[in-house]
Amino acid sequence: MRVTLYTRSHSTRQYQKAKPKAYPMGTIFVLRYGAKWETLPEGTSFAAATAAKLRKEIELLTGAAEQPRPKPKKKDAGALDVLIDAYLSTGKAAQKNWRRHTRQAYALALKLFLQSCRKSRLDDITGDDLLEFKVFLRKYRTSIGKPYDDPSIYNHFLNVVSFLNEHGKSNLVRQSDWPKYEKKKTACYDESDMARLLQFADEGEADVLEFFLGVGFRNGEGTHVEWGDIDLKNREIKTYSKRSQYGWEVKDSEQRIIGISDRLAERLRARHLPHPGSGLVFPNTKGNPDKHLLRIIKRVALRAGLNCGKCIGIHERKRVLCSTHPVCRKWILHTVRKTWATFQSRSGADVRTIQQDLGHSSLVTTLNYLAAEDRRSAVRRAQINAADARVRQHIVQSAVLPQ
Ligand SMILES: [Zn+2]
Repeated sequence: MRVTLYTRSHSTRQYQKAKPKAYPMGTIFVLRYGAKWETLPEGTSFAAATAAKLRKEIELLTGAAEQPRPKPKKKDAGALDVLIDAYLSTGKAAQKNWRRHTRQAYALALKLFLQSCRKSRLDDITGDDLLEFKVFLRKYRTSIGKPYDDPSIYNHFLNVVSFLNEHGKSNLVRQSDWPKYEKKKTACYDESDMARLLQFADEGEADVLEFFLGVGFRNGEGTHVEWGDIDLKNREIKTYSKRSQYGWEVKDSEQRIIGISDRLAERLRARHLPHPGSGLVFPNTKGNPDKHLLRIIKRVALRAGLNCGKCIGIHERKRVLCSTHPVCRKWILHTVRKTWATFQSRSGADVRTIQQDLGHSSLVTTLNYLAAEDRRSAVRRAQINAADARVRQHIVQSAVLPQ
């Protein structure tokens, strides 16, 4: 570490680098190293001060003198990393009370953006930086060497755009320049397939299946449900955040109470009998929330012969086909949720009720869940067949024309 010799003016107290020249008696010499100013005793001559400077350099070099801590750099309030830190702690994250998963998703997206972006200040960010980010994401490989799929690229991009919007940087790129991906359309399960699943399920497996089919809960909502949340008399189930106990929060901070069928209430009563108390309805062997309830459904689906037979998955660390192993991607809890919504709609429940019970903040999401139902409705089927008949009637007429 370098040591620099300064003089300090008696009157203005300003520092000046000392030069080899004659200084008047009483000049104050000061050593400067790291962020430290060390004033030499009064009456020190320039020669003695120079010697003190050399001594200090040697002491610092040999470790005889303690290295001063470097002066912390002044934080630039407009620096991207400073703004991102604030966004993830006291800013948007605190404002919207983000769940851990949401915070992690934003943190990762913004970390990647910092990696891709060559600028360090928010003011300098332009649409080009976002376009470069899009290219960066496409080329990016995760720690296990895998590229991001299109929905992940889209989500990372969206999260960075939200951050920029929040700081007044909006409409940097045109909508047509956004990363694209095909939105997956998943239809709900057939009534007959659900019946077949139940026929092949044992008592415990059927509890899980009937529960999700009967409440339309998200995975986490079902995982964390406790006996105390179920009102068997009124046949209702409540879902709400359980932060202190399980560190789990309901999506969009929306508590809900959902009505269940008489039959499901009876099934739950029977399940509760051998294990009374107010604990979890679906605990794992250690008494914690069972995070793998989907595995139960996948297991039953294989037994029932309902797998598609085409997908490959990982089972006990081996790549296997879903025709022989419980890895079929057709079976996901979220589709059971869609199925719940569809069966409600089919039974005459109005879309607002379904939206409320699902805990959707936007009606559009609920309508997307029910899109398949419109397509398969009697009215829509009649329209599709009528359109087909329009062509057909002309074929019949032309067939009777003279050759
Ligand atoms: Zn499959």
